Amino acid sequence: MFGNYAGFEGSMAQRRVFALNNKGSAGMILLLFVFGLRLDAANQSICLDTAILPLTPSLLRRLNDNLADLDEKEGGILAVNVGDEELILWKNVLPAFVERCRDWEHTSKCEYAIKGSIPLTTEKGQQYLCSCGSGKFPPKLTATITGWKTMSKVCIRAAIPPIFWVPFVEKSFFALAAPSPSNNATGSGTVDNITERIAALKMKKGSCTVCGVKEAKSGGTLNKCAKCHVAEYCSTECQVKDWKEMGHKTVCKKLEEDL
Ligand SMILES: [Zn+2]
Ligand SMILES: [Zn+2]
Ligand SMILES: [Zn+2]
Ligand SMILES: [Zn+2]
Repeated sequence: MFGNYAGFEGSMAQRRVFALNNKGSAGMILLLFVFGLRLDAANQSICLDTAILPLTPSLLRRLNDNLADLDEKEGGILAVNVGDEELILWKNVLPAFVERCRDWEHTSKCEYAIKGSIPLTTEKGQQYLCSCGSGKFPPKLTATITGWKTMSKVCIRAAIPPIFWVPFVEKSFFALAAPSPSNNATGSGTVDNITERIAALKMKKGSCTVCGVKEAKSGGTLNKCAKCHVAEYCSTECQVKDWKEMGHKTVCKKLEEDL
């Protein structure tokens, strides 16, 4: 969505209306209008300023004509296909994305409070967001959107960030592609994260395992390790360094065993 809104993805045309589509039974579950790409300084990141329209089958039927109009005038609604699990994830994170940019108050009739659950449900075909924020937008923001008057009443503003991996939850894969200082410190001895090292090595196919250049120092193609035929080097120096200091000795042995 970030790429398509900025216009550097696919057909390179800028898109600002997206639909989350469940290939399974749920169908279209969410419509997204992007107002802009904003800096999220507090998180040193960016976010999409959006209006989201959580769709239920009944709402979808009611808005059918509006959607067709929108599709035509906005250069097409871009469908983003999501699986069943992803669908549940979206329903769980959307309330948080709404809270991030909330400048209105939840009312005493808030569905979250009544039901005691956020999101309201993750079940298909049912409303999952509370309606307190429906239609609450700065007027300047919405002036340019086709057919906004009818749609806005059921839309809610949300700030959607890109999703990052969290290093303390998931092992960061790419960081391991470059040898970490601790690996250097252990010298030719132990390599504790061997599986990741091998995966990282395979990802670097076509570039020197040590310095990352794509060509041999002497010109021409890189030299492959004669034993494992996986590690590639630009020069003897890099190969020696990997073998002696960066633990390829251990990685190589494992690779050979796996052959
Ligand atoms: Zn509410
Ligand atoms: Zn090199
Ligand atoms: Zn090697
Ligand atoms: Zn090897």
